[in-house]
Amino acid sequence: MTGGERDPEADLRALTEAVNEEFRLLADAVKAWLERNRPAIEALAELAQDPRAQDPRVQACHCLCARTHPGEYVCDAEAVTTRRYNSPALGPVDVPVCAPCMVAQGIAEAGR
Ligand SMILES: [Zn+2]
Ligand SMILES: [Zn+2]
Repeated sequence: MTGGERDPEADLRALTEAVNEEFRLLADAVKAWLERNRPAIEALAELAQDPRAQDPRVQACHCLCARTHPGEYVCDAEAVTTRRYNSPALGPVDVPVCAPCMVAQGIAEAGR
């Protein structure tokens, strides 16, 4: 008679079952959390799908607003194109410029 000796395999099975149960509870908790936070998660997912968020080439507008179109503070900070400037120090440089700035610069230059 082995008298109360424990079966290591049974212990292991019990442990595995306990762990599985833990994981099931955890998965339920995660699922409930996801359900509760669905609007925020969907908003984040939409943001991630936004081409502007995905495109690493999107640059900030580097327009010198105060100099190139004084009085027109229309900058939306998101460069859509570049304009070539002749920098006295660097020579011609392509500066990222946002759409409103480009328009404002055109108006400022036309009015010169
Ligand atoms: Zn500007
Ligand atoms: Zn701008």
